Amino acid sequence: MDSAPITEFNQNLLEFLDKSPTPFHAVAAMSEYLEKDGFRKLNELDTWGTLSAGKYYITRNDSSLIAFTLPEVDVAETGFKMVGAHTDSPCLKVKPQPEKIKHNLVQLGVEVYGGALLNPWFDRDLSMAGRVSYIDSQQEIKHTLVNFDKAVAIIPSLAIHLDREANKDRTVNPQDHLPPIVMQVGDDDSIDFRKLVLQQLQKQTPDLDITKVLDYEICLYDTQAAAVTGLDDDFISSARLDNLLSCYVGLNSLLNGDSTQANLLVCSDHEEVGSVSTSGAQGSFLESVLQRLCPDIEQHHRMLQRSMMISADNAHAIHPNYSDKHDAEHGPKINHGPVIKTNANQRYATNSDTSAYFRQLCDQVDVPVQDFVVRTGMGCGSTIGPITASTLGVKTIDIGVPTFAMHSIRELAGSQDAFMLNKVLTQFYTKS
Ligand SMILES: [Zn+2]
Repeated sequence: MDSAPITEFNQNLLEFLDKSPTPFHAVAAMSEYLEKDGFRKLNELDTWGTLSAGKYYITRNDSSLIAFTLPEVDVAETGFKMVGAHTDSPCLKVKPQPEKIKHNLVQLGVEVYGGALLNPWFDRDLSMAGRVSYIDSQQEIKHTLVNFDKAVAIIPSLAIHLDREANKDRTVNPQDHLPPIVMQVGDDDSIDFRKLVLQQLQKQTPDLDITKVLDYEICLYDTQAAAVTGLDDDFISSARLDNLLSCYVGLNSLLNGDSTQANLLVCSDHEEVGSVSTSGAQGSFLESVLQRLCPDIEQHHRMLQRSMMISADNAHAIHPNYSDKHDAEHGPKINHGPVIKTNANQRYATNSDTSAYFRQLCDQVDVPVQDFVVRTGMGCGSTIGPITASTLGVKTIDIGVPTFAMHSIRELAGSQDAFMLNKVLTQFYTKS
């Protein structure tokens, strides 16, 4: 494979990962790419009427996004080619009343969002970012994004001298052990987190008309930039590869696909906590958009039955130190192509019809394809595929690139796999 296009593709992917410390920032970054490509933003509050052929996108809660291209012909006759991914990743979220002062150290109370691997959060240079809701000088509630953009918080480990069993059985008590340290104060000082956020916003956007911070959804993130690594540049290491990698690949494929076809990308928030929310895959976002695009009930159901969803979310590669955690015949390898995820108990939505279609797609662009099935007797994770399949009745396949360390603060993927998946999804969005 010619390495120049892969190198450029990976650089753009790394840039997107670094720009997107939270789902809000990911949606803002994706919106920017879409605007640049001529996609028109729709508002759910407006009357859409009958949209003419063209390129559109909508966001909900600033954290989920749907982008689509509409053909000249009736979508009931074509269905939509859909790719689904999620914008959220496990992390630590700052609580509403987070201020704690112990031994002159200011700490922030945090909640664990999703199934995070907690140990890797220790001894990292952390920053904070998210959405802030504030009042302006006219007493109106508005929202903006905040990013402290430098190391401002840290969760130091307990020294091994104080816990000789640490390498055998250190467990993390999230309430007691996770509050990060953000500063040191004098004996009589108090601290107000909302004021710190206000100061940061005034620094970040001096022209912003803001009088008071009311609320926020702020999470901690690792300041270490995403990187290509390995002696031969074989890997990509970054936070949030699950599942911003798939968001990026889906978006890039949509931008490079045939925009005269009915193509759609949906990137939803809250997958890591079960998808049940206004902006989650189990909420009404996708259903409501599709209803407005094809309102006649008879035509709507014809459109759904002609549609297909590729649900893209990372898969578990076979780890050389823990190979016994995989079924030997279904252990995907890094840089060996996208993975079809199958589960007899429907934790994945893949069936033989949709997997055959995906295998053919890979074949058409000379990309190898792999299979993942969890070890028999072991519980299986799930993703947004089965949710879309069951709520909309759209035929669906679950796929993803193989990765290590899923849900760690730093995950690992292959430097060729995202590029290969991009070829396959572009083909999906292109072939008639
Ligand atoms: Zn995921």
